[in-house]
Amino acid sequence: MINQDRLLNTFLDLVKIDSPFGEEGEVARYAAGRLRGLGFEVHTDDMDNVFGYLPGTGEPLLLNAHLDSVDPCRGIKPQVGADGIIRSDGSTILGADDRAGVAAILETAHVVTGTKIAHRPIEIVLTVQEERGHAGSKHLDYARIRAKQGLSIDGTGPVDSFSIAAPSHSGITAAIYGKSAHAGAAPEAGINAIRVMCEAIARMPLGRLDAESTANIGTIQGGTASNIVPDRVEITGEVRSHSERKLQTHTQQIVNELEDAAVAARARADVQITRNYMAFRLQETNPLVSLVAQTAEKMGLEPSFVATGGGSDANEFNAHGIHTLIVSPGVMNEHTTTEYVALGDMVKCTELLVAILGVV
Ligand SMILES: [Zn+2]
Repeated sequence: MINQDRLLNTFLDLVKIDSPFGEEGEVARYAAGRLRGLGFEVHTDDMDNVFGYLPGTGEPLLLNAHLDSVDPCRGIKPQVGADGIIRSDGSTILGADDRAGVAAILETAHVVTGTKIAHRPIEIVLTVQEERGHAGSKHLDYARIRAKQGLSIDGTGPVDSFSIAAPSHSGITAAIYGKSAHAGAAPEAGINAIRVMCEAIARMPLGRLDAESTANIGTIQGGTASNIVPDRVEITGEVRSHSERKLQTHTQQIVNELEDAAVAARARADVQITRNYMAFRLQETNPLVSLVAQTAEKMGLEPSFVATGGGSDANEFNAHGIHTLIVSPGVMNEHTTTEYVALGDMVKCTELLVAILGVV
């Protein structure tokens, strides 16, 4: 069954390999090598996404985690406490997001290949560049994926809290073009782009807009000198919503405020909206959700099903018809230098995966 030392060592090996997004080659080779050694059918694509398949009985189950990390993530020196909690030395993140997920999947692969108990076919997909707009899962070859159900081991917080919904996300890039003039000699000849933009922003719906939606303007840049009426200013922002309709309504309102403010000031607005990912929501009656709930209860856990405010690989899998929920391997404080994970939680997560595959 689960070998805690092996799981811990796998995790420590993984975090010691530098893998900022876009540089996952070495960690991809490590994971692919481990899966090959266990008899998985393995291939990697030209982005370094790793695919592993092990035949079995019944419907295949996709297990996903991502190989990349956010900065500062070079030279991670994991420290294992007597309490089984693993942290960085404080100068970097730990990288448990998401190498705790990768380690849990590799340990699951060990357990399943070491047993004679029948199990579901396992389809492992370890992605690159999840932290950069899910670029790995966005561009992988879905024609090769057999599973219709998946677990993305990329959650944070308690192991018995599962994410079954995530929002859609639209990015906003906008510029206001005014007219430059000398601010002292001829201000009436100018159109102040910064002022027009500020008027638009002041009217935008921002922050938490309703129970399902948020919006933000995150950057602003413009102007050249204090004595020149600025002729150009640019912003970037975003809208997220669990409701497609609300996403569109809020996004449109932001576009309207930009255009109205520009027209009123005889300036010009240039607005670009990019759809970054699509929302998903699995119903509690979904067979995969029921299976996870029953399995967790049998293990003595108290499963809860929640919505997350962030996007991840699970959005891409769901958008391609693979019902995927997000499982936490127990990662805490992700994306910070105080990130940590308890070995006990990684073990619990692995037990859950093994049980869901049918090996109990
Ligand atoms: Zn992650």
